[in-house]
Amino acid sequence: MKYVLILGGVISGIGKGVIASSTGLLLKTLGLKVTAIKIDPYINVDAGTMNPIEHGEVFVLNDGAEVDLDLGNYERFLDVTLTRDNNITSGKIFQHVIEKERRGDYLGKNVQTVPQITDAIQNWIERVARIPVDKSGEIPDICIIELGGTIGDFESAPYIEALRQFQYRVGQENFAVIQVSLVPVLGVVGEQKTKPTQATIRQLRALGLKPDLVNMILTLDVVGIACRCSEELEARVRSKIALYCRVELEQVLSVQDVASTYHVPLLLKDQGILNYLTKRLRLDCISITPEWQ
Ligand code: ADP
Repeated sequence: MKYVLILGGVISGIGKGVIASSTGLLLKTLGLKVTAIKIDPYINVDAGTMNPIEHGEVFVLNDGAEVDLDLGNYERFLDVTLTRDNNITSGKIFQHVIEKERRGDYLGKNVQTVPQITDAIQNWIERVARIPVDKSGEIPDICIIELGGTIGDFESAPYIEALRQFQYRVGQENFAVIQVSLVPVLGVVGEQKTKPTQATIRQLRALGLKPDLVNMILTLDVVGIACRCSEELEARVRSKIALYCRVELEQVLSVQDVASTYHVPLLLKDQGILNYLTKRLRLDCISITPEWQ
C-alpha cells in the first residue's frame, strides 16, 4: 500500500481538496486502484451538525454519513464509493479511544495523545486504506490522505505527529508528502512572492523535530510543493522556491487559477507529477492492469 499525503500551508481554501482528487485521478490513469481519506481535525464527530453557510455544503455518502464536501470530489474524480470511515475527525478518534478506555482496554495505562491517540489515527488510516472502494472489489494500491486546515493549527498537531510516525511504520518508499502553498502576487508591484511558501515548508520540517532524538531523521519528507497562484509561476520564482525550500525543481508544481477545476489534473500531469511519484514511490513495482485492457 502506498500513501500520498496532501497538506496545506499559509491559508486554507487554496485548493488542497482539488489537488488531492487530481493527484488520485492521475494515479488512476496508471491503472492503480486509488482510495482516499479526508482528515478533518475538528472535534465534531461529523459535518452533519455544522452550519453550511460557515463550513460549506455537507456531502451525504451512500451509507448515510454526513461528511465534508471533499469526499464528494473524491467520489466524482476517482469513481469510487466511500464510507463514513473515509472521513476521520477528532470527534471520531476521541470517541473511539474513550470507548476503549472505558472498556479497560488500556489495562490501567495513562491514556495520552502520544501514543494512544496517535496510534488510533495510524491504525484507522491503515485499516480504511485497505477497504475496496471500486467495482473491482479489490484492495486499493494507493491511498490519498488529505489533512484539512493548515500546518501549525493546534488541532492538527496530533495528526502531524501520527503521520510523522506513520511514514516510518509503512516505509519511506511507500509514503510521499505534497504540501500545497500559496504564492501571492502583490497588486501594485505584480511580483510573485515566495516567502509564505518558504515559511510554511520550514514550519513543516520543524514540526517533525524533537531535540531529544538527535540521531533520527524526524522531518516529514516533502516530495512536492504545489503552489497556488493567480498566474503560472515564473521560472525564476520556481527556482527560488526549489532553492530556499531545499527541493529539486521538478518538485515545485505551479497550480494557477483555472476556469474549471477539471483542468487541474492536466496542469499537474504536464509538470511531470506522475513521473516523479512513479520514481519516488516505486510504482512500477506494483503489478497493474491499465483500465483500457
Ligand atoms: P481546500 O481543500 O484547500 O480548502 P478546495 O480544494 O476545497 O480547498 O478549494 C477551494 C475552492 O477553490 C473550491 O471552490 C475550488 O473549486 C476552488 N479552486 C481550487 N483550485 C482551483 C484552481 N486551480 N483554480 C480555480 N479555482 C480553484
